[in-house]
This record gives sequence, C-alpha cells and structure tokens, in this order.
Amino acid sequence: MKRLEIPKPKDPMVVRTFDTIPSPPEGGVVIKTAFCGICHSDLHFVDDEWIIGNHDKITCEEMNPRLQYPLVLGHEISGIVHAIDGDEKDDLKVGDRVIVYPWLACNNCDFCATDFPNFCYGPSYSIGCSGSNGGYAQYVTVPKKSFVLKIPDTIPLDIACMLPCSTLTGYNAVTKVKPTIEKFIKLQGEATLLIIGTGGLGLWCLQTARASLPKGTRIICADINQSKLDNAIAHGADDCVLWDRSLSKDDIIKLTKEKGNNGSIHGVIDFVNSSTTASQAMECLCKGGAIALVGLFGGTVELSLPLFAFSLHEIYGIAIGSINQLRELIDLVANTKLIPPDITHVSLEEAPISLMKLKKGQIAGRSLIKF
Ligand SMILES: [Zn+2]
Ligand SMILES: [Zn+2]
Repeated sequence: MKRLEIPKPKDPMVVRTFDTIPSPPEGGVVIKTAFCGICHSDLHFVDDEWIIGNHDKITCEEMNPRLQYPLVLGHEISGIVHAIDGDEKDDLKVGDRVIVYPWLACNNCDFCATDFPNFCYGPSYSIGCSGSNGGYAQYVTVPKKSFVLKIPDTIPLDIACMLPCSTLTGYNAVTKVKPTIEKFIKLQGEATLLIIGTGGLGLWCLQTARASLPKGTRIICADINQSKLDNAIAHGADDCVLWDRSLSKDDIIKLTKEKGNNGSIHGVIDFVNSSTTASQAMECLCKGGAIALVGLFGGTVELSLPLFAFSLHEIYGIAIGSINQLRELIDLVANTKLIPPDITHVSLEEAPISLMKLKKGQIAGRSLIKF
C-alpha cells in the first residue's frame, strides 16, 4: 500500500510504499480509500504553523499535542469497507460505501460519551490531523466503528468525501444563523444572508443554505476575486459584491448593505475570518443579526462593548460540526439536488502540487485525490 507522508515537521512530503495492508484495531475498521479531499487546513501541517493572533504563530505540535510523525494528512475520506474487527453487523459490512467522521476527540469524556465530541475539552485527536493517520493513503484505519457512516448509492464517492469537513462546516454555520434568518422572515417576509469567501467551503455553504433556509432568504456572496464571485452566481447566489482591496472599509460596508433586503444584512457566515473580513462583517450586520465565524485566516477584532450590547448581535464560533449533523447532511445531500463545487481529481503523487496551488488561491472549487 502507498501513502504520502510528512516525515518530520517542515519536511517535504514523500510517497512511501508498504508490503502489507493494515489490519483493523480492536473495535475498528480499515477502509480502502476511494477519494480524499485536499483541504485548506492541510496547509497548516505542510507549513507547520497556525497563525493565532495578528502575528503570533504556533507550530502544529504546540497546537495538537497528540500529533505524531511521520504524519499522513487527509481527513476528508470516502471509500469501501475493507475489514472490520469482530462480527459484522447489519449497520456495517465489508464492501459498504462509506465516509469517515474524522473528529474523534479524546474519546474519554462525558461529551465524547454522548454525541457531542466537538465540545470535548480533551486533547485534539482526529484522523489525518492529530494522533491518527489519514486518507492520503490507499488504506485508512479508523479506531472506532461508530465513526464510519454508510452513504446511499445516490451520492457519488467523490462528493461524499467532502461531507465530513468542508460541507459539514458550512452546514453547521447555516444551522447557527438559521433561527435569526427565520425570525426576520417571519417579521418582514424576507432576509439576507451574506457569505464571505467563495472557495470550496463557501460554495458548499451556499448550497446547504439554499436547501435548508426558508423561502424569502436572499443569499449574497463577497470575495476579493471577481471570477470566484461569478462562479458563486453560477452556483445559485442571488447577488455578489466584490470586496476590492482598493476600496475603503466604509465603501465596502455601504456597497454590501445596499445588496441586502431593505439595505440590511441579517446573517453573515465568514469563511475567511481575518481582522478585515470579520470587522467589516460585524459592521454590515443589522440590529439583532447573527454572525458565524468559521475561517482560520488569523487576526483579531476590536469590539466596542457597549455598542455590541446594544447591537443585539449573536456571534457563533464554528469548528466543523457534530456526527449527528453529518447524518442530517447525508440525508440532505441524498434528497436534494445540490450543485457541488467544481471538482478536480488528482493522483496521490500530484497532491503536493495541488496543496501549493491551494495556498496560492489557484484552485477553483475542490481538488480530490483519486485512488
Ligand atoms: Zn477539511
Ligand atoms: Zn472527549
């Protein structure tokens, strides 16, 4: 079996070949990988840095104490069940088409014992990021059966691999702003959601927002790149606004609010989440509006606390989503006609080049490793 690994922090990625296929651990599963998404978060591990403040950086080992090298990235995994430890049950069999919920968390606390592993206070533990090797490999070991979810035949495996990360993150953000959008629609008949950043996550969010927000929701997109905005319109956005870097902050806020229903933006989902985008987003938001901060660009915002109190704004931090939300999402994707982002298939050997293109913003939509 072949895998692409990072031997040590900051080392270039190399393909390594093994004579044997891994066996499932106790209570676990081995999956023959069909597709693995190349995600923006993977770049943190390639560069070995997370930017947490305006200039403060920490290494991946400081961020994830369970991180081990050699590291095999890849947390967006779809494939076929190759082997299961113990008896096969009706809910999971060898040969099933599956995806993996990779956010294992500590597996040893009250949140993990219930269905809220993403509220876990324990050390981060996830497939393809920290503690367990990922899907940049022909076979992936999943330590626990319950993290493997079957998918219906109507969802192609390349689309399926994106569901547990990029799609789930956008869907979770939509569920957070949804009550606010519904409240304004009930009172005024219409409301506007602004999505900032129209890469793979933003486009998926646009689709899940369209499928799960009520009639009367106007969805507009903002980006610094006009061709990405054109793509967002092709994927169903009602309108878009170019956040041109040459414009002043005041002009950007004015232009954006003009695109909303009655000059108001009721909900915002920020997939960039930089000092610039988040502060502009908060100023675009109408009284009582909700904002979901998702991106990991890095930065800080200054907030007037009395004005914030009077704004009645709701602010949500989004870190992917729960396994129950992933189950809801599988149903939504199986039963709704969604237009996924443009997909490019690459080989395992081409993945490092795709990561570099992703870093330079040269990937339209999503690149997936095809096995
Ligand atoms: Zn991801
Ligand atoms: Zn836990």
